[in-house]
Formats: sequence, C-alpha cells, structure tokens
Amino acid sequence: MNRPSVDAGDLRWGWACPRCETDASVARDPGTGTFRWECDADDCDTVGFGFTSRRQARLALKEYREQYQNIYR
Ligand SMILES: [Zn+2]
Repeated sequence: MNRPSVDAGDLRWGWACPRCETDASVARDPGTGTFRWECDADDCDTVGFGFTSRRQARLALKEYREQYQNIYR
C-alpha cells in the first residue's frame, strides 16, 4: 500500500473554536517563533499558544475540543 504521508493539514476537522465554533486563526508569533491559535469571535477569548509547529497547534486545538466536550458530557 502506497499511502502518501498524512499531514495535519489534511485532517478533516478544521480550525474551529471548541467553545463557540467560530473559525479560529492560526499565526506564527514572530517574537517567539512559535505558533498560536486564537478564536476570531470578539466575545470569546479562547486561545492557545507556544506550539512549535502549525501541526502541534492543530493537535492542541483538537485536544482542547475533546477536553471541553468531556467536561460538559
Ligand atoms: Zn470561540
């Protein structure tokens, strides 16, 4: 089986805030060289930062979502 390597960018879940489902932005912080994701909604301050790569930020966002959903299950 010759499967192309799966990059985090290919995963089906996207950049959505775990709390309000608004799109979240991911950006590289030029000051620290790390990546961060941030909810775009004005009334929501959900954010994660300090990730070494875009992929790490995405994985962290997924984990955040899972933890958040566990709390309210
Ligand atoms: Zn949000």
